Amino acid sequence: MAFGGALLDLLYPRVCGGCGQRVGGEGMQLCWDCLSALQPVVDPFCSHCGDPVEGMIEHRYRCGPCRKDAPGFDRARSAVRYRGPICDALQALKYNGGGHLAADLARLLAACVRTHFTDIAFDAVAFVPLYAKRQRARTYNQSRLLAVQLGRELGLGLMPPRTLKRTRDTGTQTGLTAPERRINVENAFAVTQAEWVEGRVLLLVDDVMTTGATVSACSRAIKEAGAAGVYVVTVARG
Ligand SMILES: [Zn+2]
Ligand SMILES: [Zn+2]
Repeated sequence: MAFGGALLDLLYPRVCGGCGQRVGGEGMQLCWDCLSALQPVVDPFCSHCGDPVEGMIEHRYRCGPCRKDAPGFDRARSAVRYRGPICDALQALKYNGGGHLAADLARLLAACVRTHFTDIAFDAVAFVPLYAKRQRARTYNQSRLLAVQLGRELGLGLMPPRTLKRTRDTGTQTGLTAPERRINVENAFAVTQAEWVEGRVLLLVDDVMTTGATVSACSRAIKEAGAAGVYVVTVARG
């Protein structure tokens, strides 16, 4: 195994997904400089959506958007802030076939789950589906890649393919305001196998969470189909 890895390194030198430097050593695809530059999401944050707030808050806190319009998920947490090298790593995961990064990123996700969801017994890992046409063009779905690896880390199975589907092409959420994002993804997801979803507690995985509109819309569809709980974990928080 180690020899195979060394041979692979010789044939295909590994470069860091965060900065493009060559990476040596065992396994990791992110270099030490980039790993040490990551900023974990720490208290205080919204108890529902996990959005960090500046300053000190003593009591349990829910952010304005969560109080105004409760998200579709039961609770969301993210591993690190969407700043610095993680932006490049996630960009590489999404667009440059950076599937090899998924295992490293899933370790961050697993650490986040083990910190924030100790009270939840999950039945399976779920992911945010792409619109079928987009999935064919892109060939892979970064959310699913992360879910597969996170499932391995946590010893959980994966939601079967096409259990949850995106019913229309919602385009990119980039550049939209929070209300526009919510409207853009409203009712854009549907569960096609309610019998699988029913009664299950799911861990929904995605790469980045900004306003949470997408994971909220997915969660709502899953819960309406009868899931007992939907909790969200993302690598980064915008
Ligand atoms: Zn690096
Ligand atoms: Zn919130």
